[in-house]
Amino acid sequence: MKALEDKILKEGSVLPGQVLKVGSFLNHQMDVPFIMEMGREIAARFRGEEIDKILTVEASGIALAFAAAYQMGVPLVFAKKNKTSNVSAGVYTTAVHSYTHGREFQIVVSREVLHPGERILLIDDFLANGCALRGLMDIAGQAGAAVAGCATAIEKGFQGGGDALRSEGIRVESLAILDGMEDGKIIFRHNA
Ligand code: 5GP
Repeated sequence: MKALEDKILKEGSVLPGQVLKVGSFLNHQMDVPFIMEMGREIAARFRGEEIDKILTVEASGIALAFAAAYQMGVPLVFAKKNKTSNVSAGVYTTAVHSYTHGREFQIVVSREVLHPGERILLIDDFLANGCALRGLMDIAGQAGAAVAGCATAIEKGFQGGGDALRSEGIRVESLAILDGMEDGKIIFRHNA
């Protein structure tokens, strides 16, 4: 999505540890019309697919997932993050390693909001190593739901998480894919 690439170049900055900061429009301050546009693009890419529900993880996935859910006319569920691993009978839960925080946390979804046979689209703001999306896949699997695909705003392609998922036959749509951020210079992947 050219508009997203332009925005990353204009407003993004590269932090130590290969972290891209986009706090001016996605992760802290939110450019709402722009996020709605990204939601429209995700809905267009998945048009024709049978999707019952969107699943994301709090907090930074919610805005994009909300925009896509609005465009697709489906409910949105966000997994909650727990610091403790207390498990209750009424939930699906799994451990996820946080790329940006460098530690593990539990994500939790109530059994009341995910059901067997539902077709789920997984959405997150960033895709790096793929831990967050794999955690959501685990939750969907526990519910007996099927993963229809994954969508992210920004995929750091050089970290390999997206291509690993694709090689397993999972549809992954990212609105911008970065192939490198060497010395602060951002390089995008453009497939022919
Ligand atoms: P993964 O689990 O795929 O390794 O990383 C994705 C998760 O880590 C996303 O939920 C996102 O919040 C966070 N993340 C990973 N890389 C970046 C980054 O470069 N910038 C920001 N802002 N978040 C990131």
